[in-house]
This record gives sequence, C-alpha cells and structure tokens, in this order.
Amino acid sequence: MRLSQTFIKTLREAPKDETARNGALLVRAGYIHKEMAGVYDYLPLGLRVIENIKRIIREELNKLGCEEISMSALQNPEPWEKTGRFSDQEVDIWFKTEVSSGGELGLAPTHEEPITNMLKAYITSYKDLPLQVYQFQTKFRNELRAKSGILRGREFLMKDLYSFHTSEEDLDRFYGEVEKAYAKIFDRLGIGGDTYETFASGGIFSKYSHEYQTFLPVGEDTVYYNGDKSVVLNDEVLNDETLEDLGVKREDLVATTAAEVGNIFKLKTKYSEPLGLKFTDQNNELKTVYMGCYGIGVSRVMGVIAEKFADDKGLVWPEAVAPYKYHLVGIGEEGMEAAEKFYAEHPGEVLFDDRDIRPGEKFADAELMGLPYRVVISAKTLAEESAEITERITGKTKLVKLSDLK
Ligand code: ATP
Ligand code: MG
Repeated sequence: MRLSQTFIKTLREAPKDETARNGALLVRAGYIHKEMAGVYDYLPLGLRVIENIKRIIREELNKLGCEEISMSALQNPEPWEKTGRFSDQEVDIWFKTEVSSGGELGLAPTHEEPITNMLKAYITSYKDLPLQVYQFQTKFRNELRAKSGILRGREFLMKDLYSFHTSEEDLDRFYGEVEKAYAKIFDRLGIGGDTYETFASGGIFSKYSHEYQTFLPVGEDTVYYNGDKSVVLNDEVLNDETLEDLGVKREDLVATTAAEVGNIFKLKTKYSEPLGLKFTDQNNELKTVYMGCYGIGVSRVMGVIAEKFADDKGLVWPEAVAPYKYHLVGIGEEGMEAAEKFYAEHPGEVLFDDRDIRPGEKFADAELMGLPYRVVISAKTLAEESAEITERITGKTKLVKLSDLK
C-alpha cells in the first residue's frame, strides 16, 4: 500500500465527540471512520486488522472441525417469539423495523434462535451429531451507552460459534476443546497474558458460564482475582456459594476493571427445547439436542488491542494483527529508489510512505499508525547496504543489512 495513492488521511485531532482513546487513535490514524455514536466504518488499514483477527480465530476453530457459515442479519420474529426473546421487555436492545408489506422484523443482536431453528432442517439423527458451526457476523444492539469507541458498538462484528450434541457429556467434551482453542486464540492475538477465563453466571441451565476478560483500565466490567490469578470471577457470581465452590476467600480477592472479549456458555436445551430441535438416538427414541454457544467480540478485540498497547505517540500493533509489518520511508533520491525496490520485494508486507512531505511528518505518522517496524532507507544507510529499523513497541533502532530483511 502506498500512502500517496490511498484516500485515507491521518488527522491531528479526533472528532470532538470521540472520548474513548481507542476510537480517537483509530480515527486519527485512519483505521476507522465514525458515522455516529457506536457506529463505525472500517477503512483499508482497519479492515486488515479485522481480517487478521478473523484469520487467527478461523484457523483455531477449523482445527476443532467447526464449519463456517454466514447467517442473515434480518430476523424473522417467529423463532424468537417461541423463546420469548422478541419481547422488548425480555431483550431491551433490539433494533426492529416494519416490513413494507406488513409485519415486523428485527436486526440480529445474536443468533441462538435462528441457528437452532435452521438446523432443524439438517439434524434428524444421532448420526448428524456432533456438529459445530460458526460465523463472523455483524450484530446490532441498541446499547444505552456507546461511548467506548469500538469496545461497545451499536453495530459490531462478532464471531459466534454454536455446537450441537447428543448428550451433556459430549457438550462438556467440546466445551473443554473450545476453552483450549480460546487460550490459543488470545495468545496469538497478543492479549493472552492479560486475558483470563472468568467465572460468570450460567443462567438457570448451567451453574457457571465463562467470560474471557482482558484486564484493562478502561474496561467496562469489574472482575475479582486471587493472588496468582488462578481464579477470576465477575460480580454476578461474587457470593458465598461461588467462593466456596472455587475455594477462595472474599478477603483474598482483588477487584480490577476488564473488557469482556469473549464468552462461552453451556446452553444445554435452553433453545433446542422451545424450538423443538430433536434427534433420534440409536434406539430410535426422540431426544432433545444439547447446545453450547461461544462468542468473541471481533471488533471489540481490535479496540482492546489498540487500548492495551498504545502509548503517547499512537497505536502499537502486535505483529500478528498489524495491517502491515513494515512502515517504509525513503530519504533522498537514492533512498527512495532503494525503498521502491524494498517495496516490490515484500509484497503485502509494506506500507510505503511515498508522499512528497518532510521525513519528520512521515515519522510522526509512522508512530501514530503503529506498524511493528519502521524502515528508513537513505544514502547513509545504503553506504552500509542497510536500512535503519525501529521497533515500534520498544523504540529501539538498529541498522540491518537489506539482504537480512525478510
Ligand atoms: P457485554 O456484557 O459487554 O454487553 P454481552 O454479555 O452482552 O457483552 P454477548 O452477548 O455474550 O456479550 O456477546 C459475545 C461477545 O460480543 C462479548 O463477549 C463481547 O466481546 C462482544 N460484544 C457484546 N456486545 C458488544 C458491543 N455492543 N460492541 C462490541 N462488542 C460486543
Ligand atoms: Mg451486552
């Protein structure tokens, strides 16, 4: 990508109504554009970050044998009425609209009802199970407060995985596999060290569910952890019974703020029962399917990474999610020529600042945009057949032979 040819521009100031740091930095650095509170557009760089996050999630889920689908965002009220969740009293974040030919539909805030309903067409026998499907999909929620940048959108991107089983034991088995996959995913995304599996309320069907909480000063949630952080729980389950279950004492727990980047839930028959998702077992008996659901807030993860690593100069992307690895600057005629060559030799890896502006401005933009390595090539570095590489996260600079740069 050449900065001289893209329409995006870095901004000295963020929109006045963008108070969250992740939103302000991402807008200023040209990754996203703000439409209104809680609604953002993803520009070329932002989209590449999203695609990198999706790729990592997709790779780990595919290893578990999950199949990717894409369901509709427009929702027929019918299945939701069967579970009572089309009601605004039950679910207070619906966006609903009239259909011109009559009737109402909703914009999907999640997909338990439609996926359960859809799979009635495909699951009939125990031979069809287990089965697990996921999607990356835009969700719509009329959130009361949308002041946290892309951490809380009214329109946002979620990965939602649903699993279907013949028995509770098989659901437990798969749930355990997802726990391992999630640990791997958050590690690969660069936030594994600060992301904890957290005990949360399981509703009436299960004692506990688990949230994945990334400790973060601007996080909207409060979680509680013990000394070695081997036990983390949220405020829904901070009670005597849970403390006893988990073998921790209230006075040993410390509170901190965190952002929920994902959660996993044993739904059991919560949706399959009212929607009638059944299968026949080996004895030809009709049984209700057991289900689990497993979410990750893809756009929220991007915001969490932005918040987590940013410094006073701008964004700092871990290499695995960065839109490009190198931010390239050529100085002087010779430097520009060598930079052109470097750009051609590293397809898909380089953001080339080939604009006709002062190097100082380019350096400031490189810091704001936060790619892992700034590469500066000039007559001086070429005298050593090298480029000057500055690592964004440490600010450390060194000369590296051009032939050694992969
Ligand atoms: P929260 O408590 O933060 O509102 P939730 O419990 O409503 O989250 P889920 O319905 O379980 O969230 O959705 C799965 C994941 O989607 C969450 O773990 C979170 O990462 C993400 N998510 C939920 N709501 C939003 C939102 N408004 N904007 C961005 N991401 C969201
Ligand atoms: Mg919510």
